[in-house]
Amino acid sequence: MSATLIDGKAFAAQVRAKVAEHVTRLKNDHGLVPGLAVVLVGEDPASQVYVRSKGKQTVEVGMASFEHKLSPETSEADLLALIAKLNADPKVHGILVQLPLPSHLNSDLVINSIDPAKDVDGFHISNVGLLGTGQKSMVPCTPLGCLMMLRDHLGSLSGLNAVVVGRSNIVGKPMAQLLLGDSCTVTIAHSRTRDLAETCRRADILVAAVGRPEMIPGDWVKPGATVIDVGINRIERDGKTVLVGDVHFDSAAQVAGAITPVPGGVGPMTIACLLANTVTSACRANGLPEPEGLTA
Ligand code: NDP
Repeated sequence: MSATLIDGKAFAAQVRAKVAEHVTRLKNDHGLVPGLAVVLVGEDPASQVYVRSKGKQTVEVGMASFEHKLSPETSEADLLALIAKLNADPKVHGILVQLPLPSHLNSDLVINSIDPAKDVDGFHISNVGLLGTGQKSMVPCTPLGCLMMLRDHLGSLSGLNAVVVGRSNIVGKPMAQLLLGDSCTVTIAHSRTRDLAETCRRADILVAAVGRPEMIPGDWVKPGATVIDVGINRIERDGKTVLVGDVHFDSAAQVAGAITPVPGGVGPMTIACLLANTVTSACRANGLPEPEGLTA
């Protein structure tokens, strides 16, 4: 392997330490305790793990965690009523509704009922619009984590060719907006892209957010490129279940200048950025300066 490993686990620990430091300052200087409310509807095992982990890390950085676990049969009216209550609660600075929601609930309607200032996932249509027009917004956590790692590794991103493979609303599109905001020349590739290999080979920054195990091989990577692998795929290998990214790590690491591993790359940054967004939201709500280096 010749590429530098971008250690998302260590970087996420640094982000959490910065958040914790800021939380202590808010408590000591302003008597303010940032609070994050997480709403889980139903019993999806993966969602339960995420919610537990979010709650644990929220408390570890000194913030208040409010968990709302609702039955799978919860009506839309009841869920909207809970969100209205959280919107009005001054102790709550961030609200996250764990997705996916059961199919009888309209996710767009639910997400758009969250106060945009408390929308720490950055999925509310107002935040999408603000990000798209280069205004201050709440930025989706996974792309924010990728941007932080890229800035940390490369310094200025200005003028670099960035290729984002994947155009989802939660990763691909906001990632592309953030890279554009940092003056990259951005290409968004997807399942209909012609000659994906050639498109990827032009990338100084290659972000893979596809959901297909090891789809991008080393010979699609420009020598020296920085590769950010967002993919999390569970596969069977040698009789064991293992996690792999969307990039074929071993071959890409021979060519890239730097690369994120899976696991231990983008994954740990997502919750760290959720905590960062919550402390940012608490500062904005109280007219206080935002923590440096924790926003886009
Ligand atoms: P989506 O399924 O919503 O989007 C996948 C995108 O990949 C689509 O735009 C799709 O194109 C594109 N795509 C699919 N197949 C191909 C192909 N053969 N060639 C080119 N493009 C293709 O996924 P998400 O954005 O939600 O997630 C992507 C990956 O990131 C998943 O592995 C997910 O688990 C992971 N993830 C990781 C997170 C983390 O914390 N690290 C957080 C969120 C996601 P089209 O639009 O044309 O269908």
